[in-house]
Amino acid sequence: MMLSMKRLTVEVVLSALSNRYPGAKTSLRWTTPLELLVATILSAQCTDKRVNLVTQSLFRKYRSPQDYLRVPASELECDIHSCGTYRMKTKAIRESCRMIIEQFHGKVPQTMEEMMTLRGVGRKTASVVLSSAFGLEKGIAVDTHVFRVSRRLGIARGKTPAAVERILMKKTPEKEWSHLSHLLVSLGREICIARKPRCPECPFKLVCPSSTVRRNG
Ligand code: SF4
Repeated sequence: MMLSMKRLTVEVVLSALSNRYPGAKTSLRWTTPLELLVATILSAQCTDKRVNLVTQSLFRKYRSPQDYLRVPASELECDIHSCGTYRMKTKAIRESCRMIIEQFHGKVPQTMEEMMTLRGVGRKTASVVLSSAFGLEKGIAVDTHVFRVSRRLGIARGKTPAAVERILMKKTPEKEWSHLSHLLVSLGREICIARKPRCPECPFKLVCPSSTVRRNG
């Protein structure tokens, strides 16, 4: 889809990217809310591909919140080592599991407020789990891709992920919140990459205020 002379709104972005990335969703593999929570914690500063490799065996070994507490922390650290920052992630997973058992009857909670009481869980992780695992649109997950692409496109120029999220939430119909996040991640991974955006291949090359094509052309 080629865009030209169209004002770049969230609506236009949604429409163009829905055509380009039909069925866009998280590439993390999971089957239960707990698995998605753990995978999302592991994905901080790590690729989804690496996380999926690690969770393939991890989720066979750890099936309940209790399982993550039954082993010594050092064993879990070893199991998730290749995802990076493994000590911090081990603490986050184990403390979250402890809270899930003690405060939430062994189930991953389903509100933003409760989710954010879990260690290592911020708005981004909470939004991902609430929308993908429970179908609840409570926020827009602003990761590094959503933050960068929103600012480059000019649809949200906030200086922090929280500010970008607030702007996007105001401009986007609630039912599209997680969809928009997945679409922007897809564009950020494939085309609007951090170091050198591939503007000539981008559907927004003629309307994006950051486009190198428009500037040079
Ligand atoms: S035109 Fe370039 S800077 Fe703008 S969204 Fe596309 S790839 Fe990113």
